Amino acid sequence: MPDPSSTPGPDDAILVVGGGIVGLTQAYMLCRRGHRVHLFESGAGFAGRASHANGGHLSTDSGAPWVSPSILPELVHWLFDSHRPLSVKPMAMGWAGWSWLLSASRHLRLDRYLVSHSRLHALTESSVALWQRIESEIASPLAPGRGVLYLYRSAHEWDEARGMLERERPIGIQAVPVAAGELASFAPALATAKVRPAGGIWYPRDRFGDCREAAGRLAGWIESHGACLHRDTPVMAIEQAGGSIRVRTRHGLWIGQALVIAAGVDSVRLARPLGIRLALCPVKGYTRTYPISPLPSTGPALADHSRKVVLTPLGGTLRVAGMAEFAGFDDRLEPRYLTRLHETASDWFPELATVQSTLDWACLRAMTADGLPLLGPTRVPRVFLNTGHGPLGWTLAAATAERVADAIEGRNEAP
Ligand SMILES: Cc1cc2nc3c(=O)[nH]c(=O)nc-3n(C[C@H](O)[C@H](O)[C@H](O)COP(=O)(O)OP(=O)(O)OC[C@H]3O[C@@H](n4cnc5c(N)ncnc54)[C@H](O)[C@@H]3O)c2cc1C
Repeated sequence: MPDPSSTPGPDDAILVVGGGIVGLTQAYMLCRRGHRVHLFESGAGFAGRASHANGGHLSTDSGAPWVSPSILPELVHWLFDSHRPLSVKPMAMGWAGWSWLLSASRHLRLDRYLVSHSRLHALTESSVALWQRIESEIASPLAPGRGVLYLYRSAHEWDEARGMLERERPIGIQAVPVAAGELASFAPALATAKVRPAGGIWYPRDRFGDCREAAGRLAGWIESHGACLHRDTPVMAIEQAGGSIRVRTRHGLWIGQALVIAAGVDSVRLARPLGIRLALCPVKGYTRTYPISPLPSTGPALADHSRKVVLTPLGGTLRVAGMAEFAGFDDRLEPRYLTRLHETASDWFPELATVQSTLDWACLRAMTADGLPLLGPTRVPRVFLNTGHGPLGWTLAAATAERVADAIEGRNEAP
């Protein structure tokens, strides 16, 4: 291990910046392949940002790019809906946000959407399969799982969703439409719901589990297998040093043979001084955690498709997550969006109306326009990306870690 206070010498370590689920899974994958790894995390603990309290879904088949042909009619509908899951703060977004929206609009076309979805599905499917292998090693918190049931409040939305599902089946999506009368047999807890859904779509291969807990277990595994995890160590700069790459931290310099930027939305600021411009847009989301769960721990977990809210049983608690707020890098909580989540949760489970959330959370998703993460080599030698996982970082982290590890080892140039 290099002495951080001295001038660094050549080293064969791989440096990973970011201790969220993506950076930790990257470190795990590299460690498993026998590499020496140094991981740097700004926070005092791991998974303190987007990976802290997300929706918990591992979306094998339901994971799709957000920008799709279906979003246009939804946008019109949301104009008149006080529970709309979208908020745009034009002044806070800045020029980068507007330019991102413009490039996202190119993916509204069905043909482009299906191409992106097909590539994304290859990743989600392989990632969830990988997580199931990893879980035995880290004693992961994945629920045994009865999949995820999407609920549609109106007949029109349900018809549209089934139409889109038929177009997506050739990609390999596995899902089962469920008529309104059969929903209660999938999720008996819905019997007392205030809403009568028009129908549902069940994704039997989707799973769910606590991302933060998995991150903690990965950190434990990595550390016990010889990796150096540097907590409370923000990387201030990434520099080229001859045939190596190094990071500057307040504790000194660290040198390695390769470096992976896995810093969520902060990847943008880290990469920019290297001349790497990342087309990532921060999109804020909110979550609440209730100390009781009307859903059994085996699920199925639910998703209110109409309001883009997920309801996930996690270890005796219920995690409710949603909202897409375009407000630049501001990650502060706005109470009115928490109220919206609470009202939606109480629609499905009236017994939650008087229950206080024990954890309210807001964080930023690092979104790409086409929904595909940014992976692999950059124009700067030895610098690799593993970022831009948007709403699917927990789902995708295993596959993206594998692809980036392959790229570092020269097994594939463009994952
Ligand atoms: C409301 C909501 C619900 C979601 N639900 C789901 C879901 O159900 N399923 C799913 O798959 N995904 C979900 N996601 C998305 C998922 O949470 C994210 O994609 C994932 O957590 C991103 O992980 P990450 O490691 O890239 O980023 P983060 O978890 O944000 O981690 C980045 C880390 O980098 C560190 N860092 C930043 N800069 C530096 C620096 N200079 N030096 C050192 N460290 C640095 C940060 O401190 C942070 O710990 C959801 C997101 C939101 C907002």
